[in-house]
Amino acid sequence: MESITHFLINLLIILVSLLFFQGFVIKNHLKRTHLEFYMFLTLTISVSLCMMFPLTLPGGIPFDLRFIPLVLGCLYASRYTGVWLVALIVVLRIAIHGFENSWFAIGNAIIFSCICFTIREKFKQYSLAQKVTLQVSLFIGMSIWVLTGSKLLFQSPITVSFTFAYTGIHAAGIGLAIFMAEHIKNQHLLLLRLIRSEKAEVASHLASSISHEVRNPLTASRGFLQLLSESSDIPEKEKAYIDLAISEIDSADHIIRDYLTFAKPTAEKIEILEMNKEIQQAIQIVEPMAKQFKVEIHSQLDSAFITGSSGLLQQVLVNIMRNGIEAMSTGGTLTVHSVREQTSLLISVKDDGIGMSQQQINRLGEPYFSTKDLKGTGLGMMVVYRIVESMKGNIHIDSKKGIGTTIFIRLPYMTDAEERKIS
Ligand code: ADP
Ligand code: MG
Repeated sequence: MESITHFLINLLIILVSLLFFQGFVIKNHLKRTHLEFYMFLTLTISVSLCMMFPLTLPGGIPFDLRFIPLVLGCLYASRYTGVWLVALIVVLRIAIHGFENSWFAIGNAIIFSCICFTIREKFKQYSLAQKVTLQVSLFIGMSIWVLTGSKLLFQSPITVSFTFAYTGIHAAGIGLAIFMAEHIKNQHLLLLRLIRSEKAEVASHLASSISHEVRNPLTASRGFLQLLSESSDIPEKEKAYIDLAISEIDSADHIIRDYLTFAKPTAEKIEILEMNKEIQQAIQIVEPMAKQFKVEIHSQLDSAFITGSSGLLQQVLVNIMRNGIEAMSTGGTLTVHSVREQTSLLISVKDDGIGMSQQQINRLGEPYFSTKDLKGTGLGMMVVYRIVESMKGNIHIDSKKGIGTTIFIRLPYMTDAEERKIS
């Protein structure tokens, strides 16, 4: 009975620290580094408290539930936190009980954490039920191993009821802890998604309310400026100013178009698109800009047919190519490839420009994320993601700071049978 009370107190410590952690996560939708810090703190406290309140059997061997926070650390926190928890267990154990009584426990902590580190990546892909089942079985095995070892090596007086209490509470405890950890993780993801979609909603409202009103007067002004620049009464130098005004109006129009697409990405007509023609057309659109930036464009294109809207596809390609060119302010090469894979066409746009850090890559597609100060809107990639998603494709980014960026887009193409049916 005493053993059950002790282990339940241990379990209470672990679950209460997890609850505190959850409180932090919900209150201040934390960044990754903050999250890691709080996880480190929570697990350190629960390991220390568990080890300070063990059940010590006659003969001096202590038993507690420290393996539960250890495994949580190895599976959910960073690897550094996992290693730190093992070190903490080793130090505390030797400090409290001396080395003679501790080598078996230390060895177990190291073996157990190594097992968890090995399965860590695979574990992430399992369903909740699989995760709980795996850990509960692992803990039952571990408990039996620890109890047998303690009995044989240190002649600990282990009774049947003690065995049931230690094994049962360990198994139930890890099951509950995994359940809570998963719940906290999902809640955090949901919170981040909610914040993102709130931002997107604001952008969408703005888009539909102002785009039309601003676009019409802009188009009219552009027309008159165009007429003015064709007049023979105006000196060449002043014509340059007019051209500048036209190009500024064009860029304003471009921004508004980004907003409009964001508001309703599926408004355009769906047709069958010949991809190499579409890509060539997009290259033609960005060619003047490439010249201005002293960028050469190389292309090698496989042919494939896809269904979609040409206007939207052009926006995807042009936005990505423009970003590539803008990333090479001192000139370079933009390489556009398209390769037929089994069921989809892989389009890659590669530049040797400034590249992006991992943090920048993660933020790509977020509304208003731009590193171009006044020149950028931070809407281009958001529109790209939205359109590609609506075309049932996907995007992959490969980028290294200072080396360059490759953006891969996969779009499902029509099979030969589908093509024949249409022609
Ligand atoms: P904008 O171009 O208006 O800044 P985007 O959504 O098109 O907005 O791009 C967002 C940000 O992503 C850019 O400001 C830039 O920092 C980064 N980015 C996008 N493409 C590239 C690229 N090819 N190379 C380097 N950075 C890029
Ligand atoms: Mg852009």
